[in-house]
Amino acid sequence: MNADVLVVGAGFAGLYAQHKLRELGLSVRGYEAGADVGGTWYWNRYPGARCDVESIDYSYSFSDELQKEWDWSERYATQPEILRYLNHVADRFDLRRDISFGTRVTSAVYDDDAQHWEVRADNGDVVTATYCVFATGSLSASRIPDIPGLSEFTGRWFHTARWPHEGVEFTGRRVGIIGTGSSGIQATPLIAEQAAHLYVFQRSANYSIPAGNHPHTDETRAAYKATYEQRRRASRESGGGSPHEAHPRRTLEVSEEERNAAYERRWELGGVLFSKTFPDQMATEEANAPARAFWERKIRALVTEPAVADLLVPTDPAIGTKRICTDSDYYPTFNRDDVTLVDIRSAPIEEITPTGLRTTGGEYELDDIVFATGFDAMTGALLGMDIRGRGGWSLRDAWAAGPRTYLGLMTAGFPNIFIVTGPGSPSVLANMVLAAEHHIDWIADCLVHLARTGNATIEADAQAQDAWVRRSNELAENTLFPKANSWYLGANVPGKPGVFMPFIGGFGTYRTICADVVAKGYEGFVLTPLAERRRTPA
Ligand code: FAD
Ligand code: NAP
Repeated sequence: MNADVLVVGAGFAGLYAQHKLRELGLSVRGYEAGADVGGTWYWNRYPGARCDVESIDYSYSFSDELQKEWDWSERYATQPEILRYLNHVADRFDLRRDISFGTRVTSAVYDDDAQHWEVRADNGDVVTATYCVFATGSLSASRIPDIPGLSEFTGRWFHTARWPHEGVEFTGRRVGIIGTGSSGIQATPLIAEQAAHLYVFQRSANYSIPAGNHPHTDETRAAYKATYEQRRRASRESGGGSPHEAHPRRTLEVSEEERNAAYERRWELGGVLFSKTFPDQMATEEANAPARAFWERKIRALVTEPAVADLLVPTDPAIGTKRICTDSDYYPTFNRDDVTLVDIRSAPIEEITPTGLRTTGGEYELDDIVFATGFDAMTGALLGMDIRGRGGWSLRDAWAAGPRTYLGLMTAGFPNIFIVTGPGSPSVLANMVLAAEHHIDWIADCLVHLARTGNATIEADAQAQDAWVRRSNELAENTLFPKANSWYLGANVPGKPGVFMPFIGGFGTYRTICADVVAKGYEGFVLTPLAERRRTPA
């Protein structure tokens, strides 16, 4: 099988890649491990799953008709609604026809002589492609921690990112949930409503902000649709891909009263942008501390039992350095008699037993275990494939000390492989739908440029890549982010190199950098013409 472009993944990024690249007249072949489109929203069907960037922003902008015709029912749509939307997009633009579903790409090997990739899938397919677009997701390789005894557990167990399609009924059951990141925090209140008893096994407390979710009305829908263009423009120019305006002054330049009023306004609005109330909030501990103190006062007011509140307040000194969470009724859930918060920081899990779970502090009888234990983020899906570039150089070796990319788009030694929202790009620090659209548009323009200029390959120059990695690291070091043990740094995966992976310079700034690179003739990339032996058939 031959294709101009092979696209792996059929989430937000892969679907748009199908549409955009096909529009260029290229032959596009797609592979998706899931049985249908949706990516994140296909896999993460746990109760409470919803986006935390407003749906009017966390949706495609490439088609004005699409954004005008689709009506979001809530400020933060649920997983089923987002999946319905992605199915609608797939139908509307006929995006399924070139995708093989339920099929995992296992390897991609570059043929230096032929200047193409040979890609293999787990159904035996072998595809020869000039270009590969890896839209494999930054949060798609789910992780179950290596806790002894799981195979002996006689109850049911689930991972939030591999949730059964038919749903799970917890009524009357003793449930244990391990993990208190965004997924665990969203699932906990809803599982608590059903379960006979819910045990929340918490290793690290997280900062979560009530989402402030609400239904849209015809009026609110009409209002945002009337200003969509401005909203999208502001999002593209912003630091995080949504139209947020921080307070015009720095944290300590305003009085305590004004500062608290600003936090209160953001608190009332709800959601993750609380961590950007002031422009310098994530830059220094002095600027972060008042926001953290405000947060702590709010949370302590929501939790009846002071000892439980103590446990729910993170030990991380800064708020927002780990991915901040949003919730609906997470903290009040711990006021229920049928919910127990178990501190596995001071008394770690020893093993899963046939009938539950044992920590160094006690034994818990459980019917069900829910793993809300996250992902091998940003690199897990890419390194899950055996990717070999020039001279058989493996991506796993190239990234052994942490991912290295130029602009997050390409890696030196791997010509014609494009990564979407990967490490070295704003990725998980931005609204990922707009970030994916930006990457795919950049890639499409690049392929047009290669064709127009008679070039067959493009790859990152090693020195430009080094400079980009240095610049990204320096930017991160000037913030509080590297101080936290977060998945941004791979800290959740034993043995993973501790490198801050996303580009933290801001989405708008990053877009400008990418445009400048193009304006300067793809500065930092090496373009090569079609090899002589391919141009002149023997
Ligand atoms: P994905 O949606 O992850 O799709 C990648 C696809 O590639 C997957 O379906 C996977 O099966 C497939 N794949 C991977 N490897 C292979 C392979 N080797 N062969 C074949 N197929 C493969 N981001 C935000 O900006 N805002 C939010 O509110 C938000 N909420 C989130 C909520 C949850 C529960 C989670 C887990 C993430 C959330 N994210 C959010 C991040 C989210 O991952 C992105 O917003 C976005 O959905 C990513 O789209 P994608 O197409 O890049 O990747
Ligand atoms: P996560 O943030 O990585 O949280 C995983 C949780 O599991 C953490 O509490 C972690 O504790 C715990 N854990 C991991 N291994 C453990 C072990 N061996 N023993 C005990 N506890 C363990 O994963 P996530 O909650 O799935 O979220 C990942 C990302 O997906 C989010 O940060 C966000 O970007 C995205 N997401 C977004 C939303 C949304 O609201 N829109 C919802 C879900 C996910 P430690 O912290 O101690 O490691």
